[in-house]
Amino acid sequence: MNLYSSVDVICRSCLTSGPEGSARAFVQAPPLSIVLCSDRLTAAEIPEVIVHELTHVYDIASKKLDFAACDDLAYSEVRAARDAECTTLARNGSAVLSACKRAGGTARNAEMRAASAAAGGTGGGGLPPPLFSRAGAERAARRVCDSAYRNCAAEKAKFATTILHPDGGECVKRVFEKAYGDYEPEREGSPEKSK
Ligand SMILES: [Zn+2]
Repeated sequence: MNLYSSVDVICRSCLTSGPEGSARAFVQAPPLSIVLCSDRLTAAEIPEVIVHELTHVYDIASKKLDFAACDDLAYSEVRAARDAECTTLARNGSAVLSACKRAGGTARNAEMRAASAAAGGTGGGGLPPPLFSRAGAERAARRVCDSAYRNCAAEKAKFATTILHPDGGECVKRVFEKAYGDYEPEREGSPEKSK
């Protein structure tokens, strides 16, 4: 039986001290609900914040994680950052986006060079031969883009976990691989699972 068939979303001004002091939004219980800090959020940020907090709600309600435990909070913060803030950054411009764009450019460049080589070799104004095969360049591109995403999720999860648990960075390190690969429940638009 699912105890949480609905979740309230509350908008209010947030406290300036304690764990709430540095939050834009957070989950409280009981009853399990999401608080949006109306004094710290712009309308444009709300979709991202809702994705982040709903990930926490899911992890508390369905995965039975206990955020009083550092590893459990770290686990949920990795998942939330991956699907919320890091996805926004990848869309809107950032280190994550530029790494992914550079990666895509490397793959396209290899393809163009390969096409040029196939069409008549390397001389006479043709492009130099590719340094990598197209497949190799795509693999390298995915690695660069994925590592930018992973760094983003690890950094943001560390920051968020450390607000409640001083050793948050260690907790993120311990749980990172498992949490980052956990897309439960699968959502449309989730990045492709890495194995
Ligand atoms: Zn969070």
